[in-house]
Amino acid sequence: MAEETTQRAPESRASSSSSSSSSNSSSSSSSRSHSSSRPSRSGGRKFFRRKKVCKFCTEKIDVISYRDVNLLRQFVAERGKIVPRRLTGVCTTHQRRLTRAIKQARNIALLPFAARY
Ligand SMILES: [Zn+2]
Repeated sequence: MAEETTQRAPESRASSSSSSSSSNSSSSSSSRSHSSSRPSRSGGRKFFRRKKVCKFCTEKIDVISYRDVNLLRQFVAERGKIVPRRLTGVCTTHQRRLTRAIKQARNIALLPFAARY
């Protein structure tokens, strides 16, 4: 359905290397063999990422209502904080609506401002 078109901006490199160095060089070159024996990490992700597609876009939810607490709870951390967009993958437009809905829900005490212990 959704096609991703990644377009890269062409980077123009301006390579201007003008090196004019006149220095008495008493060369003491120590040749070290750079032994690179690093263990290559392969795919150890600490945070689990879902697919980076906005949930509301996929389900075509236009209006996020503040009464939909079960929906809003998915984007609120345990202590009541709103989960940032980079973690949830919600697009900007929906994140704004979501934030508004969460704040409205807070005002009528559907969601907590911050969890109390
Ligand atoms: Zn969206």
